[in-house]
Amino acid sequence: MSNSTPPFIPFTRPSFNQETIDAVGEVLRSGWVTSGPKLAEFEATLSEYFSGRHVRCFANGTATMKIALQVAGIGEGDEVITTPISWVATANVILSVGAKPIFVDIDPITRNIDLNKVAVAITPKTRAIMPVYLAGLPVDMNQLYNLAKQHKLRVIEDAAQAFGSQWKGKKIGSFGDLVSFSFQANKNLTTVEGGCLVLNNADEAKLAEKFRLQGLTRQGMDGMDVDVLGGKDNLTDVNAVIGLQQLKQLPAYQTRRAALARQYFDVIRSELASAGLENLKLQLPVENFSESNWHMFQVVLPLDQLKCDRAQVMTELKDLGIGTGVHYPAITGFTLYKEQGYKTSDTPIAERIGRSILTLPLFPGMTDEDIGRIASGFVGILKKHRKN
Ligand SMILES: *Cc1c(COP(=O)(O)O)cnc(C)c1O
Repeated sequence: MSNSTPPFIPFTRPSFNQETIDAVGEVLRSGWVTSGPKLAEFEATLSEYFSGRHVRCFANGTATMKIALQVAGIGEGDEVITTPISWVATANVILSVGAKPIFVDIDPITRNIDLNKVAVAITPKTRAIMPVYLAGLPVDMNQLYNLAKQHKLRVIEDAAQAFGSQWKGKKIGSFGDLVSFSFQANKNLTTVEGGCLVLNNADEAKLAEKFRLQGLTRQGMDGMDVDVLGGKDNLTDVNAVIGLQQLKQLPAYQTRRAALARQYFDVIRSELASAGLENLKLQLPVENFSESNWHMFQVVLPLDQLKCDRAQVMTELKDLGIGTGVHYPAITGFTLYKEQGYKTSDTPIAERIGRSILTLPLFPGMTDEDIGRIASGFVGILKKHRKN
């Protein structure tokens, strides 16, 4: 019997080994399932991972970023500078604390906020810069922290996608101001849902704990008080134990992601050459193997050289059994943001990249054959739609 349909390759998929499944079972049988000893162990292990800095975990990356803003005292009347090319959570948390996001255009090569354009966006109301490390590629950390120092701003790093990324040999999160990670299922290290914040001092860590649980403070055995408005954003032991197991597997995952990314560069380039598409301005990611954690492999389609749009390319890839994603359209194009007066035309590079960026599948469980299949299918589609 012939089997003509190859298995569908999603754009990402988490990996859980038997040890992880067993560890979850152990927590479920233990009688204590919410925040407890496993959370404490996960936070201690993360703190060690981040060179001894303070670490607190939260229910998700969105809550982590919101609490980072609250810890920094950012609220009504404040401005926070960020990028329009991110998951909408980045801007939503700024709005949710009552502050105003100020969008600065991106660098077309790194697709991260263009730090050269930040200074002109700073006003007396600016309180913080919130960069995003898209696909795990960090920004220039010297430039970022020099800007912050010069203008007396806090930095809240949206490092949701950058767990395991480095800057000049130092782990992202092991230095800097407030650094926020997400452990959502698509991220390089997952707790299914979750997040963590790396902080510089015990007072801010204590404050983060308060915001995480109803604003509660404890005094003695039977005393309690509430002095700030907190939420219910704690991470459970079930999630924490998954994170502890994932940390053990992270080095192997990272090696595999980098190897797959290298293959993408090689195979896409050779497919383009053999299809006679050397002049196609398909933009590949920055080829950075010392700093990026290869959270995603994203290309920017040369739409002006194609007779079709991105949606058509995605549909045809899907017909070949290949899943893709859009990370991300410019946040300023969403109705909520348009209604507040934001315009995608104010950040034209973000507008263009947001319309033409495409995420190809990349996750540790992929095979070498998968990369070959994706690259040849993808280049075949580009060839078919190329303008003459
Ligand atoms: C995933 C992600 C978030 C939000 O994390 P959640 O855990 O899904 O709340 C924020 N910013 C970026 C850039 C992300 O990729």
